[in-house]
Amino acid sequence: MNELREVEVVVIGAGQAGLSSAYHLRRVGNRPDHGFVVLDHSPGPGGAWQFRWPSLTYGKVHGMHALPGMELADADPARPSAEVVQEYFERYERTFDLRVRRPVDVRSVREGDGGRLLVETSAGSWSTRALINSTGTWDRPFWPRYPGQETFRGRQLHTAQYAGPEEFAGQRVVVVGGGASGTQHVLELAPYAAETFWVTRRPPVFREEPFDEEAGRSAVALVEERVRQGLPPRSVVSVTGLPLNEAVRQGLADGVLVRRPMFDRITPDGVAWRDGRHDRYVAADVILWATGFRAALDHLAPLRLREPGGGIRVEGTRAVADPRVHLVGYGPSASSVGANRAGRKAVRDIRRLLAGEPVTV
Ligand SMILES: Cc1cc2nc3c(=O)[nH]c(=O)nc-3n(C[C@H](O)[C@H](O)[C@H](O)COP(=O)(O)OP(=O)(O)OC[C@H]3O[C@@H](n4cnc5c(N)ncnc54)[C@H](O)[C@@H]3O)c2cc1C
Repeated sequence: MNELREVEVVVIGAGQAGLSSAYHLRRVGNRPDHGFVVLDHSPGPGGAWQFRWPSLTYGKVHGMHALPGMELADADPARPSAEVVQEYFERYERTFDLRVRRPVDVRSVREGDGGRLLVETSAGSWSTRALINSTGTWDRPFWPRYPGQETFRGRQLHTAQYAGPEEFAGQRVVVVGGGASGTQHVLELAPYAAETFWVTRRPPVFREEPFDEEAGRSAVALVEERVRQGLPPRSVVSVTGLPLNEAVRQGLADGVLVRRPMFDRITPDGVAWRDGRHDRYVAADVILWATGFRAALDHLAPLRLREPGGGIRVEGTRAVADPRVHLVGYGPSASSVGANRAGRKAVRDIRRLLAGEPVTV
């Protein structure tokens, strides 16, 4: 398809970050399809939430912040968060007439003609004056590499492929990763699996106190500092700590959540540690990698925004190397509350840019 359409702003991704941005674009007078267009490669509304496993009920998530302009009220905590969020986003898109185009896969963004950006997709190209990139992380699960990994005869999967504990009945499962997903997997699997074995690189740091606004602010400040330096953002848990909720407390008390250090290598039928002159070994049928995600930014590669440190330097939401490009839901705004605020900020900045006014943070 060779069609080339012109708009003022292209938003890539219709998760929390993209929808919040689209809402603010609309509020300041941009018309969908002409002023802005939202492109998303997933089959339906919900951003990455549509893919979360059914046992991740709404009551188990850390708290979804509502999108601007519409409450997410009375959600049943027993329902899968995938369903709750999908329905809410669907209603949101309809109410504010955001006209998300899907499934449209953005393959690359490159320099276009006349100071514009060229967005190349599975459904033709768009020429745009500004870009809001809100592609999240779900599309880039991070798999660490360990010696012997390719020799493992059992099953290896990532959190992104986890569909609930039932299919692991009677199996010996090694769960790798010290974040919220890792602990939730261990707790869920324990009643089904023959054995669970939890390994993390660093001892987990549990947070006793509630994650209030003050704690949120200092976590965001830490991430902000990293991306300002052009370093890639670290894992969520490294700045927030692990919430010590009732389920986790119980898991620790019952001996279900017992953390072991990271193994050194993978064998055909398990994992192994070098321990002095001897090896320790645990047999496993499954290795479940709860090792997090990275920002899905490959389509921006032609713009060469990456710093030698591996990240994209960002001031507020704006890429320092290219003021036409905003990253919403990246680094400090990679949470439902952060994405909301960042959407507003990006739109304010882009308005100034398009009006030819100086852009400041
Ligand atoms: C298991 C898990 C639980 C979480 N729980 C919470 C929580 O309780 N509270 C919280 O605040 N945060 C939580 N988070 C973080 C959460 O993902 C973010 O808060 C937020 O929902 C992310 O929104 P987003 O819009 O940035 O990304 P996403 O929801 O991932 O949306 C990105 C969208 O971009 C689309 N896309 C990606 N690449 C392309 C492309 N090349 N072309 C077209 N479209 C593309 C995708 O299809 C997707 O729809 C959790 C994360 C995980 C993994």
